[in-house]
Amino acid sequence: MGKNYKEDCIFCKIIKGEIPSKTVYEDDDFKAILDISPAAIGHVIILPKNHAADIYEISDEDAGKILVVAKKIATAIKSYLGCDGVNILQNNGEAAGQTVFHLHVHVIPRYNDDDVNIGWNHKQDVDFDKVCEDLQQALQS
Ligand code: 5GP
Ligand code: ZN
Repeated sequence: MGKNYKEDCIFCKIIKGEIPSKTVYEDDDFKAILDISPAAIGHVIILPKNHAADIYEISDEDAGKILVVAKKIATAIKSYLGCDGVNILQNNGEAAGQTVFHLHVHVIPRYNDDDVNIGWNHKQDVDFDKVCEDLQQALQS
């Protein structure tokens, strides 16, 4: 089936084979490649073949399938590397650290004493009732 590519998108070019990549897995809908600037050995990014800039643009179908691919890659990484953990990450928007605007899911092997930093400071004094009500309303509309 023909895919929906975007001109001048680096990941679309990788998917089409116009830019080389180390492809570890490929099926009709996804290509999983080694990240060129990895956080850890075996850091993989999963690219949907249909161009979607971010979570807001991806189809429900691809969104559903991509976690199944992440599970496949994570399982392979764990058995091959014997890592202690795996982070599955997906960034949307510059504020969230997105640098390539073709949605992708990171699969990052983790070790008990590694130097990978994925963290945040925990907020205090949150009005959970208000946040929950506001979100419930947003989700209903
Ligand atoms: P983001 O910050 O957008 O979540 O992640 C983009 C990721 O894509 C980065 O980890 C970066 O190293 C990787 N990346 C950027 N350009 C290329 C490329 O040309 N080839 C590969 N294999 N990875 C890339
Ligand atoms: Zn693209």
